[in-house]
Amino acid sequence: RNYGMRSGFPRRGFRGNFVPPIKSNVGNAGNTISSRISEKNDDFLEILCGPDGELPEKLRNLEPRLIEHVSNEIMDKDPNVRWNDIAGLEHAKKCVTEMVIWPLLRPDIFRGCRSPGRGLLLFGPPGTGKTMIGKAIAGEAKATFFYISASSLTSKWIGEGEKLVRALFGVASCRQPAVIFVDEIDSLLSQRKSDGEHESSRRLKTQFLIEMEGFDSGNEQILLIGATNRPQELDEAARRRLTKRLYIPLPSSEARACIVRNLLEKDGLFQLSDEDNATICMLTEGYSGSDMKNLVKDASMGPLREALRLGIEITKLKKEDMRPVTLQDFENALQEVRPSVSFNELGTYEEWNRQFGSLS
Ligand code: ADP
Repeated sequence: RNYGMRSGFPRRGFRGNFVPPIKSNVGNAGNTISSRISEKNDDFLEILCGPDGELPEKLRNLEPRLIEHVSNEIMDKDPNVRWNDIAGLEHAKKCVTEMVIWPLLRPDIFRGCRSPGRGLLLFGPPGTGKTMIGKAIAGEAKATFFYISASSLTSKWIGEGEKLVRALFGVASCRQPAVIFVDEIDSLLSQRKSDGEHESSRRLKTQFLIEMEGFDSGNEQILLIGATNRPQELDEAARRRLTKRLYIPLPSSEARACIVRNLLEKDGLFQLSDEDNATICMLTEGYSGSDMKNLVKDASMGPLREALRLGIEITKLKKEDMRPVTLQDFENALQEVRPSVSFNELGTYEEWNRQFGSLS
């Protein structure tokens, strides 16, 4: 293989074989591709090249290792979440379908006064399905999904966050339609830092807003979804760019019943009566979706723990001899798994929703 030594990038020929690059890239002089990208991982370049086998212009000035990171770690080629996997949240699903999925599927119709906002904020307590919604949007709209935690930009990519943000938006624009999901977006676009803010985090924030502005004004099929459980920390500039702001609350009791049923059914373990499931829902007021998942996990250990208590060795235990998961298992699990969101926090979300939320 002939790896491009001048530009820092190999270019692919039409059939995937490398051909030497012609563009030089002053900024990356010395970043030879061969030292950066292993043979087994260089497929990422292939999927970014156009039909002519050329690497898009936008990516040529970016450092290969950052593009590699975006393609291999941040880009999720198969988000694998569908609407039906998400319990409850009917209102949010309906809004998102109209505001986001239809425009991504039919850009030709959603023009002019129908043109959609390119920024969506999902806010609410942790573990309520915000990330699941992001993945489901990508799945339903047949879009490429990019997931990044904003706090990793400031903690893990110290001093390089800006470059990574450029690479992220660059790769996304080559993989349209694209959904960029930024978790903990408050840590990137927070108002708190504005006084004693470090120069580097200010630059990062500016870069991020510039990138957003760029695709907002163009015809790009890119949607940015920010998720946060601290919406009150977002500043005015962030709110302005995240035009749709949806509250993702704790699951209703029907949604909790649905989570219990779905998780147990997936493993063929659901044998609770409707009454027992209703009792579980009553006892789990205030539990988030992820608390419910932890609860089901713990309860499903009940039959196993009991068998071991009765002296059956784990190696001799037959699956068919194990009793089903019962209400009692859930009652025991409730002692171990407590709700993670406090009642007081909910008031803060509801207040912010009243003030800044969409379609509340
Ligand atoms: P968030 O992004 O809001 O913090 P996630 O979407 O990552 O939360 O959810 C964490 C886990 O909790 C999910 O993987 C899923 O198992 C469970 N969960 C949360 N909300 C729901 C829901 N509405 N329906 C089904 N499962 C849920």
